[in-house]
Amino acid sequence: MKLISLTQHDVGDPRVPLLPQHVKRLQSLGFEVHLEMGFGRSINLDDDAYKAEGAKVASAPECLSDADVLVSLQVPPVDVLEALPAGAKVVSFFEPFSRYDALHTALQRGLEVWCMELVPRTSYAQKMDALSSQASLAGYAAVLHAATVSPKVFPMMSTPAGTIKPARVFVVGVGVAGLQAIATAKRLGARVEAYDTRPTVADQVKSLGAKFVELDIGETGQTEQGYARALTDAQLQRQREQMAAVVAQSDVLITTAQLFGRPAPRIIDDGMLAGMAPGSVVVDMAASSGGNVEGSEPEQTVVKHGVTILGRSQWAATVALDASGMYGANVVNLIDHAFDAEASAFATSDTDELLGAVSLVRDGRIQDERVAARWEGFEEDVP
Ligand code: NAD
Repeated sequence: MKLISLTQHDVGDPRVPLLPQHVKRLQSLGFEVHLEMGFGRSINLDDDAYKAEGAKVASAPECLSDADVLVSLQVPPVDVLEALPAGAKVVSFFEPFSRYDALHTALQRGLEVWCMELVPRTSYAQKMDALSSQASLAGYAAVLHAATVSPKVFPMMSTPAGTIKPARVFVVGVGVAGLQAIATAKRLGARVEAYDTRPTVADQVKSLGAKFVELDIGETGQTEQGYARALTDAQLQRQREQMAAVVAQSDVLITTAQLFGRPAPRIIDDGMLAGMAPGSVVVDMAASSGGNVEGSEPEQTVVKHGVTILGRSQWAATVALDASGMYGANVVNLIDHAFDAEASAFATSDTDELLGAVSLVRDGRIQDERVAARWEGFEEDVP
């Protein structure tokens, strides 16, 4: 069985889908691994490092011909999907709620897509959960970056010239990225507060030595998959009013709030930013999915009321080697789960619950109901 992976096209994101050790594991499962020339260049790995583990290195068209499986990290470009043989499997992040072009091509080409965003958030699937592995690194990287942009030091320092108070860090949204942001800011010595609409996270926040901010905004909660439920406009307004005082006294604000398959909630308005001290730093980790912060710009840094707002989305890309290592392990664990090496065949999403969840496109149909509902009728708009 021929498994391929190509050089990723987004030059702003150096992560790669596989490291050499993953090639070795895939080979031991029975795959022939073919990589495009220059595959690991963005993380300073030359072709020889992959060849040494048994990979064959070739041009993209050579890789694509007769490929059974394409492993990718970024959503594969449409021309790559078009060049894959019908029936090939694609294992990748697929941005299923926003990238109809890729979805449409996969449907048209008769591909089978295993979508890394759809890995269930269960204990068993943790080792395949790439949203979590990348979010965790993102939370870490965002805090480190904010610490370098902030004109304040994070820890308390007692010096002969006087005592410096610890920086105050406020984390809004305590999912995987938020928890790692809290842990990182604590390690750096900051005084950390955090808030989430899912009350169950209060204990996790406290166990990291941070303070959970209690707000009275009525009934909140979470979906069966553990994702936050959307608040009403009135609840969001109450949230903003009650949060403003904590925001105003924070030196660094990290927002990570997301709603699965929907635009991120707008939590911080312009008035709240104006209340912060000039020189404060805001990281809006949801900037590219709608933005938690009014005025944040996806992939840009803007300054408003003297507050620096960082809108970068892929923070994990700033720690690309480890991010690639974790992503590659997630993908290989998924393939390992699904592949019967003796029979040289994959399990099917009809019989395997996990594959049923991950399967986005199969047999010319969108398999995931939430994604199908998002695009209902949309194909009529596509030329
Ligand atoms: P996410 O990226 O979807 O959202 C980040 C956080 O924002 C969430 O904690 C959410 O509750 C919060 N949020 C949403 N609206 C908000 C608002 N208005 N104000 C404040 N916070 C708001 O979250 P995620 O990191 O992908 O995690 C999603 C869920 O999956 C969580 O319950 C998490 O614990 C769970 N999870 C479970 C496992 C596992 O069991 N293996 C692994 C990973 C995640």
